[in-house]
Amino acid sequence: MSDLSETSLKHSRRSAIDVQRRALLHWLLMLTAIFCFGFAVLNLTRGVYHLAAFELAVSVFAVVLIVILPRSRNIQPWSLIYVLLLYSMLIAALLTPGLSDKVFVWFFLIPVIAHFLHGRQLGMPLSLILLTIAWFLYYRYHFNTPGLMDMVGMTNVVACSLVLTGGVYAYETVRENAAERLHRIASTDSLTGLSNRKHLRELLDDTLAHAKYAGTGFSLLTLDLDHFKTINDQYGHDVGDQVLIAVADVMQQRLRAADTPARWGGEEFLILLPETDKPGSEKVAENIRQAVDSLEVKAGESRVQITTSIGSAQFPQDGQTIRELLEAADHRLYQAKHKGRNQVVAGAALP
Ligand code: GH3
Ligand code: MG
Ligand code: MG
Repeated sequence: MSDLSETSLKHSRRSAIDVQRRALLHWLLMLTAIFCFGFAVLNLTRGVYHLAAFELAVSVFAVVLIVILPRSRNIQPWSLIYVLLLYSMLIAALLTPGLSDKVFVWFFLIPVIAHFLHGRQLGMPLSLILLTIAWFLYYRYHFNTPGLMDMVGMTNVVACSLVLTGGVYAYETVRENAAERLHRIASTDSLTGLSNRKHLRELLDDTLAHAKYAGTGFSLLTLDLDHFKTINDQYGHDVGDQVLIAVADVMQQRLRAADTPARWGGEEFLILLPETDKPGSEKVAENIRQAVDSLEVKAGESRVQITTSIGSAQFPQDGQTIRELLEAADHRLYQAKHKGRNQVVAGAALP
């Protein structure tokens, strides 16, 4: 797969991860709000006021975050604040005399939550740093407290948290790789290796939202191979497939990393050109048209040649929605066909 397909795949993969982590954080915040409130009430009745206040504050923070999370564009900083706040509360409980022997088990949650919310790259160092500080404090203040912790107990706690951290890291690695493979399969056209229609649709929606927000423009090219039926009829379906693969390769080689070519269906392709105006898109389209025109695909002793017709449309000039832009590009593509094929129509007036 080319750099440009990788770039757009990474982009949509990041969006998918964001959706998953938002959902996870939402559930964790609900559990945190309920449990911290419960513990706050319990500690209030036991007279452990400082801890009750801390737990109540974390519970309120969780509720506030549940409310503001859907409106927040970037949840990463919030996730980090949540982990650190939860951890600080556990440290406060760990250092409270009389609670340590009951509290330390909750620290085993830290590597699990850190990996789930931050992935393995940040989750692993975060877990190790936070656990090291916790076990150091536990050792410093409670080691050899009669009936609480001795060398064997401490070794078991440290070893168990390391095994747990390693286990969650391994699980997260396997899960992330599997999710990435699945996402790639679901976003790629299996014949040409280009983005498929579903993936491009998502990208088009994102690009339109970004362009409206940033006040920028972008272009769309629609391509349809000329007289492709004749190639299938004359040389067979397999040669037809080889031609489709060769045309896809041409697009991958000729486009910038930011551009996304996709197989829209059959022998129709679509290219998304972010931040590209009409003259820019015309240049790219002409370049692709010429490259396809000079393609030669081997079919036994013969060499198969193909041409393509291309229509182009720009945001915001040709429409405010993806549907309108696709219609504009399609309209120009069919003008190119009517004018005799193997040409680009970029700016003809729309009806
Ligand atoms: P035009 O210049 O008007 O576009 O003529 P055309 O023959 O290309 O007509 P059209 O675009 O309607 O042709 C689509 C053909 O593409 C019909 C179908 O057999 C062929 N096709 C669609 N998908 C595939 C595929 O995956 N592999 C192969 N080999 N052929 C395909
Ligand atoms: Mg067609
Ligand atoms: Mg065609």
